Amino acid sequence: MELWYTEKQTDNYGITMKIKQTYVHEQTDFQELAMIETEEWGNMLVLDGMVMTTEKDEFVYHEMVAHVPLFTHPNPEHVLIVGGGDGGVVREALKHPKVKKVVLVDIDGKVIEHSKKYLPSIAGKLEDPRVEVIVNDGFMHIHDHKNTYDVIMADTTEPMGPAVNLFTRGFYQGIYEALKEDGLFVAQTDNPWFKADLIQSVNRDVKEVFPLVRVYAANVPTYPSGLWTFTMGSKKHDPLAVDESAILELDTKYYSPRLHKAAFALPKFVEDLTK
Ligand code: SAM
Repeated sequence: MELWYTEKQTDNYGITMKIKQTYVHEQTDFQELAMIETEEWGNMLVLDGMVMTTEKDEFVYHEMVAHVPLFTHPNPEHVLIVGGGDGGVVREALKHPKVKKVVLVDIDGKVIEHSKKYLPSIAGKLEDPRVEVIVNDGFMHIHDHKNTYDVIMADTTEPMGPAVNLFTRGFYQGIYEALKEDGLFVAQTDNPWFKADLIQSVNRDVKEVFPLVRVYAANVPTYPSGLWTFTMGSKKHDPLAVDESAILELDTKYYSPRLHKAAFALPKFVEDLTK
């Protein structure tokens, strides 16, 4: 008997994949968590019925969340990741020679625990001595840490359940205050095919708080529509002003010095959402 997993994006469209087995399926204190072995994409983390990451394509999202902001800031020593309990963004951030400390704040310790067991190639750097893992609400953490971080990455679930507050103007204001004077942040902002309203509202809110706002995109095949956006808010540094020749060639599979600025060239219908 064949078993298939489907993530429904609308009543008429979803992403589907054949599964080998389900390792974990439980209700945590915050969300429904599943760890599934798939035929095509390797092991996969699913939260509240949405694909969070798979072993085969995780590098796209994690590299793009980490390296675009980290190569925009000239000296990203102190970095915060809100969410990100699978450890993928931590692994990428640690590739930067200037990064001295990475703080990861995920609300759900179960995501961290199961990722270490079933996604070791993603979570493997969570034990690195430069990393501090905190199980807490990211919203609370940023409000308790003023003027602390050079770069903040919001690697969160979609705006539902525990992440509802992480897509609000109040969150962006908190991030602004948690950043040092030349700090910048990036947040994953879903796809333009089905979540155009979200991209527009985040853009509006971030523009009210940060002087510089830029949106970039990447291709993540296991996320709905495959086209994913990221919104950056910056106090000073512009990702489009970066000297490309100064970007290091790290051990990456998607991000490259050539792609850094190119990722900001959006299809016109996406660009229109950011005006
Ligand atoms: N890459 C994924 C995506 O875009 O689909 C998201 C990665 S997943 C690891 C996101 C994480 O955000 C989850 O582990 C979840 O527990 C965490 N999260 C949700 N709400 C949060 C909150 N208020 N504070 C901190 N972490 C939160």
